Amino acid sequence: MERKETLLLKLGEVVLKGLNRRTFEDRLLATVSRRMRRYGNFQTYLRQSTVYVEPLNDECDMDAAFDAAQKIFGIARVARAIPCEREPDAITRAAAAYLRDEFAKARTFKVETKRADKQYPLNSIQVSQEVGGRLAETFPDVRAEMKNPDLTVYVEIREKAAYVHTPSVLGAGGLPVGTGGRALSLLSGGLDSPVASWMIARRGVELELIHFVSPPYTSPQAQEKVAQLAQILTASCGRMKLHIVPFTRIQEEIRRHCPEAYFTLIMRRFMMRLSELVAKQSGVTAIVTGESLGQVASQTMKALAVTESVVSSPVLRPLIGMDKVDIIHMSRKIGTYDTSILPYEDCCTVFTPRHPATRPALAEVEAAEAALDVETLCAEAFAGVTWQWVKP
Ligand code: ATP
Ligand code: MG
Repeated sequence: MERKETLLLKLGEVVLKGLNRRTFEDRLLATVSRRMRRYGNFQTYLRQSTVYVEPLNDECDMDAAFDAAQKIFGIARVARAIPCEREPDAITRAAAAYLRDEFAKARTFKVETKRADKQYPLNSIQVSQEVGGRLAETFPDVRAEMKNPDLTVYVEIREKAAYVHTPSVLGAGGLPVGTGGRALSLLSGGLDSPVASWMIARRGVELELIHFVSPPYTSPQAQEKVAQLAQILTASCGRMKLHIVPFTRIQEEIRRHCPEAYFTLIMRRFMMRLSELVAKQSGVTAIVTGESLGQVASQTMKALAVTESVVSSPVLRPLIGMDKVDIIHMSRKIGTYDTSILPYEDCCTVFTPRHPATRPALAEVEAAEAALDVETLCAEAFAGVTWQWVKP
């Protein structure tokens, strides 16, 4: 029987779980099955800390499935492998056929074996020697070399079959989405908040997103850009609700009645209040932002305290201790960078004060804010919130 190339997804932190490991595994398997469905007809199952993704016909898009698998939280490594019978002869034949191109390019190679089935009559070293010897005969131009070979052939002996593959690649890591509670993430069009969202989702948290718009000061393109960022995130985070909050009236009122130095801070306090209203309505526990200590005036320690004091929900700031270069690096890695740098104004940039307060006193901000009818403004904006699904 001809066997088809298969994906092996190695579980990450999930394996450290104790009693509730089953819950994590079930969640992960359900996610993998769902994400793979759009690339063809696959059979997926979990054995010995590995999720197997087996194509059921030739129409499956293995390249796309391989890419998608690397984005699923809870998976530490991903390998493309060819299954074969478990005898050294069969393994050699499978490796020779499957890795023909790799052998043509290499001058040295080695075989590394993992034996998941401890009943198997040969130990890992013996399998490596047997298969390595035969491969050296099959490819006389390629020499066996244990230290830094050009090509490493991985062999895994599992219960029903052996698997041959080249090095696995890093997966997204973390925990399966849906195992860590739910949170509402404030998504702007910038570089930071998509990364913050990704980091929290990676800890198993199911996200909803919220975005504040101020038409006509902000453009439809700015909102479209946010939807696009959300769309990119779905490859890892799964489908998400994106809430859109009309924010124009609040910003105009702040500009009309409050001292310029506090514009941003007061605006951010409104964002927090409205986020909490939406969070409560959605039944989610925490609020996520892309703030990073000291990055701008509104993200100094004092400013964060002033911002946070209007809500009682936990505010998660995964970027708090990260440098901008690290954040940029991550945004490239997760694929949001190119979209984030598109030049559309968001509601913060439109009303930026020339000299923002960096060490605001809470009492002063509260006094400045007293010029506004906070409750009514929030209620109006909240009544105007709309939402849409963002799907992978
Ligand atoms: P980002 O790159 O994520 O825009 P930033 O460094 O520009 O962050 P600010 O503009 O001060 O920082 O915003 C801080 C955080 O507040 C953002 O990371 C984001 O979580 C949230 N935020 C800012 N503007 C909006 C918005 N228009 N809609 C939703 N959330 C926002
Ligand atoms: Mg911003």
